[in-house]
Amino acid sequence: MTSLDSGPASVRVAMSRKPLILIAEDEAPLMTLLRYNVEKEGYRAVEARDGDEALMLADEDIPDLVILDWMLPKVSGIEVCRRLRSRAETRNVPIIMLTARGEESDRIRGLDTGADDYITKPFSMTELLARMRAVLRRIRPALSEDVVSFGEVSIDRSAHRVKRGDKDIHLGPTEYRLLDHLMQHPGRVFSHEQLLDAVWGSGVYVDARTVDVHIGRLRKALNEPGQADPIRTVRSAGYSLDDSFKT
Ligand code: CA
Repeated sequence: MTSLDSGPASVRVAMSRKPLILIAEDEAPLMTLLRYNVEKEGYRAVEARDGDEALMLADEDIPDLVILDWMLPKVSGIEVCRRLRSRAETRNVPIIMLTARGEESDRIRGLDTGADDYITKPFSMTELLARMRAVLRRIRPALSEDVVSFGEVSIDRSAHRVKRGDKDIHLGPTEYRLLDHLMQHPGRVFSHEQLLDAVWGSGVYVDARTVDVHIGRLRKALNEPGQADPIRTVRSAGYSLDDSFKT
């Protein structure tokens, strides 16, 4: 286990902070343009050409934000949106819908699709990127800041310091990365496999129970006896930060 911990934590933390954007769009020239701009902005991008592929990719590696075309082959954008919202893992993933002018925009606004924002084609990349930043900042403030708080727990990434209230919390590198990952996605439930991929890295063979061991250590470090536990165990699903801890 110790050998797994010896990896370059700072690199991993930096990598995990680069948001993953899923782009679902069937018009090839627009896809090229979207991908170019998304990557230029410093995000990672994955491409889906139809609704089926979008759902499959979102399942494989949970994106930080989805740019979703309303009119997609196979499964429509609106159905993709609905299905992403119905799954615990993707329920809180921000979605920006792309709609054609005059066509569906009014109808979309009337429907409760669960999209976070809409943008009407044709649009300027500057505007889309600004909306993406706004949505990401609102939903994941952890992306743009060095010091992030969740209730009385705070993490200072530049100083590599964790605090609960005024008390310094000393964490091993794996516990630090676990906490950092959970704090980037407050409220989202992660399975053992997703945490292994995000914290240990994909391609590393570690038993899923290892996650439980490190969550146990993280809890022990964070919580004094009698204190509320910020980490929630979701039966047969995984772990998340408990929203009720914040209030
Ligand atoms: Ca389309």
